Amino acid sequence: MPRDRALYLDHNATAPVLPEVAAAVADALMRTGNPSSVHGFGRAARQAVDQARRRVAALVGAAEEGVVFTSGGTEANNLALAGTDADRILVSAIEHDSVLRAAPEAERIPVTEQGVVDLAALERMLAADAGKRVLVSVMLANNETGVIQPVAEAAAIARRHGALVHCDAVQAAGRIPVDLGALGVDMLTLSAHKLGGPAGVGALVLRPGQALSPVLKGGGQERWRRAGTENLPGIVGFGVAALSARSVNDRIAGLRALRDDLERRIRDIAPEAPIYGEGAARLANTTCIGMPGVKGETQVMAFDLAGIAVSAGAACSSGKVASSAVLVAMGAAPAASAEAVRVSLGTGNTEADIGRFVAAWREIYERARRLRAA
Ligand code: PLP
Repeated sequence: MPRDRALYLDHNATAPVLPEVAAAVADALMRTGNPSSVHGFGRAARQAVDQARRRVAALVGAAEEGVVFTSGGTEANNLALAGTDADRILVSAIEHDSVLRAAPEAERIPVTEQGVVDLAALERMLAADAGKRVLVSVMLANNETGVIQPVAEAAAIARRHGALVHCDAVQAAGRIPVDLGALGVDMLTLSAHKLGGPAGVGALVLRPGQALSPVLKGGGQERWRRAGTENLPGIVGFGVAALSARSVNDRIAGLRALRDDLERRIRDIAPEAPIYGEGAARLANTTCIGMPGVKGETQVMAFDLAGIAVSAGAACSSGKVASSAVLVAMGAAPAASAEAVRVSLGTGNTEADIGRFVAAWREIYERARRLRAA
């Protein structure tokens, strides 16, 4: 197996920082100035934050006043779920843990076996127990399968029932066009490190007029919606990444052919290998493939030995891999759901990379079969 260069196929975990982002972050790090200070240093820092705010707002068709910078997608999701006066929360069953664990009491909206949120179930759930202030949270693209959710339709249903809508667009932004108004949502979560920006910065973007109570209390930063001195280099880097991500369609289009080729070649080797959500609209860069009889964890280690980085299950923050709650929600048996690996491509990947992955996949699968037969 080639051991030349390490091959990164885990862009949904984090994407490489864009060179123009790295340069802007380095430059911002060397500048002194607190955006809240009234002197010239402070005013220059404020201008840099405001420019980034405009760029992030433009990425999702929002007004700049609606952008609340946070320490990342996790904080933005926590803020969205805690920041309104909702007394009933409905979340899709396939949300990221930063939604599911932020509102453990939330009711779960089921998904179909293709991993698409069940809109009829949402309608039924909203019709029951009317009279409460409801918040609905549905992600735009799933981090494990890449399945794109019918967020605009979900938001229209929610609105008919007077509910607020939050959308975690962390995996979608920079990969498909995202527009706050077209989606019809009240709050949208973004994270810089999935689109070529630095980790540790993100935003909750609000539609005009949407109120939000802070979770982090203290100073009046972010219009009293998120206290704490702004992460100037991170925010500047996020702004540059958002600007670069606006040419999204061209950059991602090529990945669909690579991803589809990868899936075709795996299917030639093992027609029995499930490809989760393949019948649904998906992000062009993502595939989630089961290798029958081989735990995802074992695969990730074997791929790593072959110099290939992929992830299993939800690639939990703890580094531990359990059976995937997302795949179980789609109706997969727990054992099968523990055998899936997520491959997520980036614009630097090539046909040769796909060939290398497929060769490694075949070798791992055949070795496991030989071991079982022995
Ligand atoms: N939401 C989704 C769908 C994600 O995939 C992730 C990260 O993996 C997050 C939220 C959390 O974002 P962050 O890493 O910026 O906290």
